[in-house]
Amino acid sequence: MSAAGGVRNAPINANKIGATAFALFTKNQRRWQAKELAPQEIEQFKQHCHDLGFTPNTILPHDSYLINLGHPDDELIDKSRTAFTEELYRCEQLGLELLNFHPGSHLRKISEDKCLQRISESINIALDKSTSVTAVIENTAGQGSNLGYSFEQLAQIIHGVEDKCRVGVCLDTCHLFAAGYDLSSRQGCQTTFAAFHSIVGNQYLKAMHLNDSKTALNSRVDRHASLGKGHIGKTAFEFIMQLDATRSIPLILETVEPEIWPEEINWLNSLST
Ligand SMILES: [Zn+2]
Repeated sequence: MSAAGGVRNAPINANKIGATAFALFTKNQRRWQAKELAPQEIEQFKQHCHDLGFTPNTILPHDSYLINLGHPDDELIDKSRTAFTEELYRCEQLGLELLNFHPGSHLRKISEDKCLQRISESINIALDKSTSVTAVIENTAGQGSNLGYSFEQLAQIIHGVEDKCRVGVCLDTCHLFAAGYDLSSRQGCQTTFAAFHSIVGNQYLKAMHLNDSKTALNSRVDRHASLGKGHIGKTAFEFIMQLDATRSIPLILETVEPEIWPEEINWLNSLST
């Protein structure tokens, strides 16, 4: 949801399209620096969330795209760790409980293993300097040198995190599919979610991004499509809306036609009986 004009506008914008959960950036996602949130801005954000029925577990802020918590360079990883800690702090100020982020990239300078260790260590450092927000790792499509494209990698990152109560996962359906998890049939969905539960564990599933995919299975290319208009198709979303594991977590659309978000929301709601 757009937070143009201030984060206080995001819950209003979400409510206008009939959403009962939403995502937002708490600062410009393409910049390192941000002005501190003004006390009045924080108060208004909390008030609007309260008035419109958005509790903290329905709101999924996303961190800046510049942050790479697995950066191979020691100085540059410090910059990312500092920025990530600041993002957690902004969430805490806003009374939020979750922070969604992409795990990190090795930039072909260090091994995948080493990079995953650095990501866990980054999470440990940031959690240590904050008190309440859960770090929610998003699975990736595996484009370029981005890690977090397999359940094994997500499990490995979590394994390296000391405070297991404050780490979780956001599964993006487009990223899953692009990374080779077939969601195009009911059988494929069953296999994928069973694998997630046995390798990572449903207790770590804190959010989902619901997107169809413009690219084919295992393409490793991240291109979102509107629900039912890509290679995944409608079955996956029907399956997901019936899962116990998704019942009380935010399900966020990152689809590419904002003008049909109200329709997509209505359709998803009709599937969760
Ligand atoms: Zn996503």
